[in-house]
Amino acid sequence: MTTTARPTTGFDAAAASTAYRSALEVIGAVEPRVAAAISQELTDQRESLKLIASENYASPAVLLTMGNWFSDKYAEGTVGHRFYAGCQNVDTVEALAAEHARELFGASHAYVQPHSGIDANLVAFWAVLAQRVELPALEKAGVKHVNDLTDADWTTLRHALGDQRMLGMSLDAGGHLTHGFRPNISGKMFEQSSYGTEPGTGLLDYDALRARAREFRPLILMAGYSAYPRRVNFATMREIADEVGATLVVDMAHFAGLVAGKVLTGDFDPVPHAHVVTSTSHKSLRGPRGGFVLAQPEFADAVDRGCPMVLGGPLPHVMAAKAVAFAEARRPEFADYARAIADNAVALAEGLDRRGVQLVTGGTDNHLVLLDVSSFGLTGRQAESALLDAGIVTNRNAVPADPNGAWYTSGVRIGTPALTTRGFGTEEFDRVAELIADVLGSTTPAATSSGTPSKAKFTTADGVADRTRSAAAELLADHPLYPGLDLA
Ligand SMILES: *Cc1c(COP(=O)(O)O)cnc(C)c1O
Repeated sequence: MTTTARPTTGFDAAAASTAYRSALEVIGAVEPRVAAAISQELTDQRESLKLIASENYASPAVLLTMGNWFSDKYAEGTVGHRFYAGCQNVDTVEALAAEHARELFGASHAYVQPHSGIDANLVAFWAVLAQRVELPALEKAGVKHVNDLTDADWTTLRHALGDQRMLGMSLDAGGHLTHGFRPNISGKMFEQSSYGTEPGTGLLDYDALRARAREFRPLILMAGYSAYPRRVNFATMREIADEVGATLVVDMAHFAGLVAGKVLTGDFDPVPHAHVVTSTSHKSLRGPRGGFVLAQPEFADAVDRGCPMVLGGPLPHVMAAKAVAFAEARRPEFADYARAIADNAVALAEGLDRRGVQLVTGGTDNHLVLLDVSSFGLTGRQAESALLDAGIVTNRNAVPADPNGAWYTSGVRIGTPALTTRGFGTEEFDRVAELIADVLGSTTPAATSSGTPSKAKFTTADGVADRTRSAAAELLADHPLYPGLDLA
């Protein structure tokens, strides 16, 4: 089936053109180079075959909502309870964003202040600590909440934190740095252990996960991913969490659009199962850059203390844009869009598989596909660069037990949300698969001075990059980004 859901075409192109032309004129009078860069960015995005799984194109309504005086307002606190005067309009947009989020996801509580996905996770982690960690010494001192701690209490708390554990999906299986890994504060706050996928199938190994959880007894069982091409059974995850007394936190940053659009339902919808759900708003959900948290009632108050615990003042212009984006996602067209994302991913995976490209788990049932390019003798880095030279924008990514490590890698991650927004359907994605297979099959690693294959340098057969670039340009021309939006 070819799907042609094109929700970002549902705007008044003449009005948007006037708005952006005027905005660029005003900006250009102060710093013309910035105005020029903004213009150029639109051209570049229009001309790039964007397969980066975490990126998308927000609607002009969402984008315009961010460029105004809401940016000037401080609004620490919560709706109706601010530490600054004059927040009545911020109250309006924050309350709307939270209400739309609750309705969209069927959640009892939504906190829309986090500035990014990482910030949403920090809010969730502190909320769980605040809610779950028993500090007898502090209780005796009458301390009710982590926000009320004195300096001496903090020393005790840091000590207590050292004993807290997080179990998250391993990085090479598709987990995220913020799920307890060392380069991120989560890896310093918590003692971390990880679960992974089955060696043969590449699928999440729930039995091994259950066994690990029983042994490790984490405070937080972290679920969610950035590079796992399959659905996750959150009902099973919750069962495991309950069995070991853990709090289930699901980070749906990548697949929030599929949850909103009801592609992931029942056991695969995190909202009814997780204690706390964190997300970005700018990936498959197609909103402004930002984050948010959904929480079951027992965690609601703790989550609402995200600012000032780990967040600075909220960004009212972005909360306003979240309200607009969530309203868009509540429309029936968004469900069509989400369905098209998943159908297109299947078409892409089948097209690649048919042309001999190896896929981790053999396919997909979400918005992304993870290619294992080692059968072409390439590293992920070489494949990423060869594809980019041919006009195809992807990113390299480790595969499970990757022999090439996290820098060179053996994988390439691609996703369908952005091009689906442009109106690409299954036929177009099959053509994209053909282009990718052609480039990979025509690329060979260069030899190093010692004769071994290089992990970074490569050559692509003459003419392939040019031919691919023009084929990609044709596809893009047939599916314009923001059709009718004209800055000239
Ligand atoms: C992208 C991502 C994040 C981080 O989002 P930012 O907005 O860049 O901070 C967090 N968790 C997961 C699983 C992600 O994929």
